[in-house]
Amino acid sequence: MGLGTFGGGVAAAEYLVNCGARLTITDTASEENLIKSLDHIRGELNLKLERCTLGGHVEEDFRDAELLVVNPAVRPGNPWIQYVREKSIPITTELGLLWNELRWKGMKVAAVTGSNGKSTTSALLHALFKEHFGTAWLGGNLGGSLLSDLLLMQKGDWVVLEVSSFQLYYLESLQPTTDVAIVTNFSPNHLDWHQIVSHYRESKQRLIEYQNSDGITVLNVDDSASCDWPTRGERHLFGISATDELTINGEEIRFPVLEWTGLKGRHHLANIAAAMTAAQAVGVPLDTMQKGLHQFEPLPHRLQWIGEINGRDFYNDSLATTPESAMAALRAFDRPIILLAGGSDKGSDLEPFAKEIRTRCKQVILMGDTQVKLAELINQHRTSEVALVESLIESLVDYSIANSFSEAMQSAWDASQVGDIILLSPGCASYGWFRDFRERGERFVEQYQQLVTQSTPDR
Ligand code: ADP
Repeated sequence: MGLGTFGGGVAAAEYLVNCGARLTITDTASEENLIKSLDHIRGELNLKLERCTLGGHVEEDFRDAELLVVNPAVRPGNPWIQYVREKSIPITTELGLLWNELRWKGMKVAAVTGSNGKSTTSALLHALFKEHFGTAWLGGNLGGSLLSDLLLMQKGDWVVLEVSSFQLYYLESLQPTTDVAIVTNFSPNHLDWHQIVSHYRESKQRLIEYQNSDGITVLNVDDSASCDWPTRGERHLFGISATDELTINGEEIRFPVLEWTGLKGRHHLANIAAAMTAAQAVGVPLDTMQKGLHQFEPLPHRLQWIGEINGRDFYNDSLATTPESAMAALRAFDRPIILLAGGSDKGSDLEPFAKEIRTRCKQVILMGDTQVKLAELINQHRTSEVALVESLIESLVDYSIANSFSEAMQSAWDASQVGDIILLSPGCASYGWFRDFRERGERFVEQYQQLVTQSTPDR
C-alpha cells in the first residue's frame, strides 16, 4: 500500500516476490506518477503482480491479504488501515521486513531516532563503525533500501538504521530489538500525521521500549524533553559542556571534531557527541574515531556549503523542515544572514523560529503556505488578514514574500552584500512548491549556478 517513487516500495516488492509472495500493489497516485517505479518492477525486475490498483484503493486489494506492507507516509487514521486492523491482518513496512531479516541473520543493529539530526548522526556512526569494524551498513529512513543488500551482509556486521516516528509506529507488531538505540532529541513535529504530541512521543519511545535488557541506550543530557525517557538496558549520555566541548557520560572530549568532519554549528557537535558515545559504548577507541570522523562526508541538503559568489556564501539546508533545525542553522553563523524560509505547514510552533529570525537575520524571504503565518509572527501581529499583513510587510524592508522560488533567490541575491550568508533553511516542509526537500535543495543549487554565470566581479 503506497508504492512510492523512492526505492523502499520497489525493494519491498522485489523482496516479497523473491520470498514467494503473491503481490498486490495499490497506490492513490496514478500510473503516470508512479511510472518510474512501475517500469522498474515490470521491466528490469520482471516481477509478476497478482493485482495492481492505482489512483485509489478498493476492498479487493485488502480483503484476502495475509500481510499488509504499508508505506510509512500513510496516516494511521486511513480507513483502509482501520479495515485491515479490524480483520487482524498483520501490518508491517519495508523497514519491518528488513529488520526481521537482520534479526534472523544475526546482524547487530544500531538505530537512531529523534526529531532532528537523525540522518547526520546515523551517517557519523556508520563512519565510525566502518573505520573500526571494516564493514558496516547504513539504511532506514535515509532513502533507498537495504533489502537488496541482504545477501552481501555477514552475520555480526553492524547495521546503522535511521528510524522515523512513522516507521516506528508501524513496527508495533514486530517489536524491533536493537543493540544500540540513540535518541538525538525530541520536540513536537509531524503533527499533521500524528495529530497529537503524545502519539508522536510514544511512537519514538518504541525504539527503547522494545530494546533487550542488555541493549545500550544513548540519550541527550542537554535535552530535557528526552533525557529521562525510561530505558531498559545500559544508559549512556552525550552532551555539550558550557565551554562547547562534547561530553560522553559527563566526561569532556577536547577534539576539534567539527573541523575533522567539515560540519558546521553547535547542533552538529551534539550529533557527533551522540555518534561517539554510541561508538564508545561498543568499544570503538578514540583514536579510531578520529580517523573515522576524518573519513566522514557531510550529507547533502544539511547545512551544506554550495559555493561563493563575490563574497557571499551560499548554504543549502533544505532538510531543515522543522523550526528547531532552521534555528540551529541560524545559530551556526556569525555573519549577516539572508534567509529563505517557510513552506508547507506541519502544525509546528513557528513562534520561536520567528523570534530567532528577528534577532539573527538581516533579511528574510518567505515562501510557501506559512508565508503569512511567519510574517505575522515576525512582525508580532496576530491578524490573519492577508491584505493587512502584506501591507505591513511592504512597509518593512527586512521582509519580503516571494511568489516563486526563482523570485525568492533573486530577492536574496539583490539584497546581499559582500560578507553575507545566503541560506536556504526553511524550518517547514517542502510540499506545495516542491515534490520534496531534495527537489527544493537541488533547485537552490541550480539557481546558485545560474547566479554564478550571470554575476560580474562586482555583483
Ligand atoms: P533528520 O534526519 O532528523 O531530519 P538531519 O541530520 O537530516 O536530521 O538534519 C536535518 C536538518 O536538521 C538539517 O537542517 C540539519 O542542519 C538540522 N539538524 C541536524 N542536527 C540537528 C540537531 N541536533 N538539532 C537541531 N537541528 C539539527
